[in-house]
Amino acid sequence: MLPAELTLIVAATRTMGIGRNGTLPWMGLKKEMAYFARVTKRLLPATASAPATMNAVVMGRKTWDSIPPRFRPLKGRLNIVVSRSHGDQQPSLNSEPASAPEEGPVRVASLEQALEYLKTSADAAKIGRAFVIGGAQIYDAALRLPEARRVLLTRVMTDFECDTFFPLKLDESQDSGWVRRSKDELDTWTGEMVPEGVQEENGTQYEFEMWERVD
Ligand code: NDP
Repeated sequence: MLPAELTLIVAATRTMGIGRNGTLPWMGLKKEMAYFARVTKRLLPATASAPATMNAVVMGRKTWDSIPPRFRPLKGRLNIVVSRSHGDQQPSLNSEPASAPEEGPVRVASLEQALEYLKTSADAAKIGRAFVIGGAQIYDAALRLPEARRVLLTRVMTDFECDTFFPLKLDESQDSGWVRRSKDELDTWTGEMVPEGVQEENGTQYEFEMWERVD
């Protein structure tokens, strides 16, 4: 199916801090990272005649760099990396073509080019959901696109010093054009019983939320 919409997935503090010194501000949130992996990997029930075989994750070059080499490309997902250094060349896989998208990331020069790839490349029919996984620059570019419909936010309640911030404050008291969806809606969308309420790992508290654009 064609991914007509983008879902941003992010963990952010109450001040929307997401990063520090090129890495995450917190350590050891294994269950939170497992949630990210499950949700970004899980395929929708097949509705099309040619069911999707893989979701896509789109990220900025700095986020790609922040992933330890042994963990990238992120397994079981088509990885797309955005960098201006990828120039005007056609989007390209590192190694093998579309039949083996886990071999290397698709390299594109803009988020628009990433969307184009998702919609029109030889891989398009195989791609299910498309997630934007950071960092701040790529979230910012995504939020400017009408395709960005949803944010899966892990709200980190413990304070951490950050130098990189998610560019949108998701707050019910503000008329931001975004609304928080219920736990049932989050469960339905993700296809799992998402842990409810405040979670705690290694002294860090957080909660899983889903926000959708209403304009
Ligand atoms: P990004 O990951 O957004 O990558 C930025 C790079 O992407 C740029 O340097 C450029 O690459 C490329 N880029 C950005 N905008 C464009 C554009 N419009 N067109 C083409 N290429 C573009 O970097 P950030 O510094 O914003 O975020 C990284 C930080 O975020 C890290 O600390 C990371 O750990 C954190 N993070 C946190 C997450 C969370 O959920 N808490 C999730 C993901 C990241 P180039 O310079 O090669 O041209």
